Amino acid sequence: MSGTGENTPLLSRGCVLCYEGAKMVLFVTGRCGRDCWYCPISEKRRNGDAIYANDRVVTTPADIIEEAETMSALGSGITGGEPFLVLDRVVRSCRLLKEHFGPDHHIHLYTGIAPTEAQLLPLRGLVDEVRLHPPQEVWGRILESPYARSVRTARRLGFSIGIEVPSLPDIEALRAILPELDFLNINELEWSETNAEAMRARGLDLEDGLHNAVGGAAALADMLLDDPKVHFCSSSFKDSVQLRERLRRIAENTARPFDEITRDGTVVYGVLELEDGALPAILSEHRYDIEVSGNQVEMAWWVLAELKHELPGKKSVIERYPNGGIILEVTPL
Ligand code: SF4
Repeated sequence: MSGTGENTPLLSRGCVLCYEGAKMVLFVTGRCGRDCWYCPISEKRRNGDAIYANDRVVTTPADIIEEAETMSALGSGITGGEPFLVLDRVVRSCRLLKEHFGPDHHIHLYTGIAPTEAQLLPLRGLVDEVRLHPPQEVWGRILESPYARSVRTARRLGFSIGIEVPSLPDIEALRAILPELDFLNINELEWSETNAEAMRARGLDLEDGLHNAVGGAAALADMLLDDPKVHFCSSSFKDSVQLRERLRRIAENTARPFDEITRDGTVVYGVLELEDGALPAILSEHRYDIEVSGNQVEMAWWVLAELKHELPGKKSVIERYPNGGIILEVTPL
């Protein structure tokens, strides 16, 4: 996850917890006053007002707490859209999380605006770390921009303050503001269904067939990596380490006794489809842990493999994301 520079990056607390997969992502609105050409928000979320905790739509405070507990979250990242468009909602959510999990539940907040003192004050004691996302057009005059004022105000109010932007040309101009920041995070520019056309129009292409990284985006960050406050977060890191660690936390809390948790945080189990709806005697004798739902019996995959010839019906081994997540592989037995 670290950059390729010689100095060890000074990771923000939010990044450390993210690395451990311990941050819940709270997407508070799909609305945003800006229209960045590279915006990665999906069509489904963009301009909508639904709230998502990780990938789940949440409608009540209890839903938010349940999702955070499912992954044993040690912190949350507030994102959108533009969180300051729904400031009351952000305040309520942060208060809920801090009250339930305690003041150590670390909260960072992304924003595309340059918040004023009046906008930041309600977040004092609730948000620990503010991550500003100034538009590319102001990078060249960042010290004269309202973002520099926000940096100073946030620092005075006691927030940890940083900038987080995608790796785009001219990023080296942000070196001017580094002395005033706690950190500068550079995200590898990522391809998505919603920005693909804009990427192509700029002559950009995918780095490889494996990840969503845009070709050449990583190299742009290189010239800033000599400063330990600068941290480069690659697309492959997000896809692999961060996701894997989050899945593992969820799997540990939600796996049934017979589910096998893989190193990637997925769960594997066996499924028997009953031919006539009747549970075979060998399974009804309570010798094995099973779960019956309709004409499906779920059990440890190795039990199903062992009893393969004694059990009539279609048998398969399933690998999926934990907590009823997407099915990745079905292998017939
Ligand atoms: S500020 Fe963020 S959410 Fe808003 S358009 Fe830009 S990338 Fe999308």
